[in-house]
Amino acid sequence: MKKEIIRCTRCIMDTTATEIVFDENGVCNFCKHYDEVTTMDLYSGDNGKERLELLISQIKEKGKKSKYDCLIGLSGGVDSSYVAYLVKKKYGLRVLAIHLDNGWNTELAVANVEQIVKRLDIDLITNVLDWREFKDVQTSFLKSSISNIEIPTDHAIWAILIKTAGKMGIPYIISGNNVVTESIMPESWLYGSKDSKLIKELHKKFGKVKMKTYPSLTTFNYIDYLLIRGIRWVPILNYVPYVKDEAKKLLIDELGWRDYGGKHYESIFTRFFHAYYLPEKFGYDLRNSYLSALICSGQITREKAIEEIAIPPAPKELLSQDKDYVIKKLGLTDDEFDEIMKTPNKTFRDYPNNDLLWHSFDWFVKLARQRIIRVG
Ligand SMILES: [Zn+2]
Repeated sequence: MKKEIIRCTRCIMDTTATEIVFDENGVCNFCKHYDEVTTMDLYSGDNGKERLELLISQIKEKGKKSKYDCLIGLSGGVDSSYVAYLVKKKYGLRVLAIHLDNGWNTELAVANVEQIVKRLDIDLITNVLDWREFKDVQTSFLKSSISNIEIPTDHAIWAILIKTAGKMGIPYIISGNNVVTESIMPESWLYGSKDSKLIKELHKKFGKVKMKTYPSLTTFNYIDYLLIRGIRWVPILNYVPYVKDEAKKLLIDELGWRDYGGKHYESIFTRFFHAYYLPEKFGYDLRNSYLSALICSGQITREKAIEEIAIPPAPKELLSQDKDYVIKKLGLTDDEFDEIMKTPNKTFRDYPNNDLLWHSFDWFVKLARQRIIRVG
């Protein structure tokens, strides 16, 4: 018998997230977490404006010694495109953008990136991953049956950003991560991408090709770059009023940006991951998380979110087209793919990982955060 699904009374997170708990009013722990992080990490109103202005002047001051004041990752999605607009057009920083080509970008994403750097006059480096190797890492993740098969891409982006900043002496990485639209996410759905040990171990177990060029960051690298060399990470969207629909409109009107019709649908693999792999294999719908964050930040009503979630994440034909494309591009057979989908679900805890180490490093993360706050 199917277990009854219970939903939070404030957001739309439900019992498909196993770690959910409700208070006496039926409000979930993710809502509470949202309130906590927005209190701690969100600088809204005049306070945010002041802090950001101070931060920008410090970035300009520190950047004097380098060709660029800051580095940004540019995927062509709303968040990173809006960051590009803010840092260049609004704050006049000298920006270097890095775009990761992992082999899965849609033509529209590539067009958006080109359009943005052209209109904003930003220098761009496109980092192309070695496809044979990266394909093998991605396939290893699929074969491991853990939920977050996007870890290889997310880890690579950060590794490239942090290493490039180190190599080129760029002191600040400004990113589109933000608490307003991203702070509700169960760890059981998406284990974070910091853990290079997990990547190495899964690849060792399921991979076939030697890992030579995949950009990864060891724990030592993190300490070296962030604590010793002092590279700083600035989640700029936490300092400005970030209303997604308004940001989108601005990008469309001022930069000729075009919409993808879904969060992170700028990559075919990501679309497959969100709309096919997670719902089919795990019963997770990440839109629950994203929409819940928008509810908590007052950008959408709970009723509207429930309406939206009732619509399938992508049309059926597109899903099956994406599935076939992924199977073919990864060089799998239909039987191998069916086997992957049928294998009992696992979590990162079923494999060697650095989770414990990262938890004991919380002090380090807090320290890094305090430093950021201090300069802001
Ligand atoms: Zn909730």
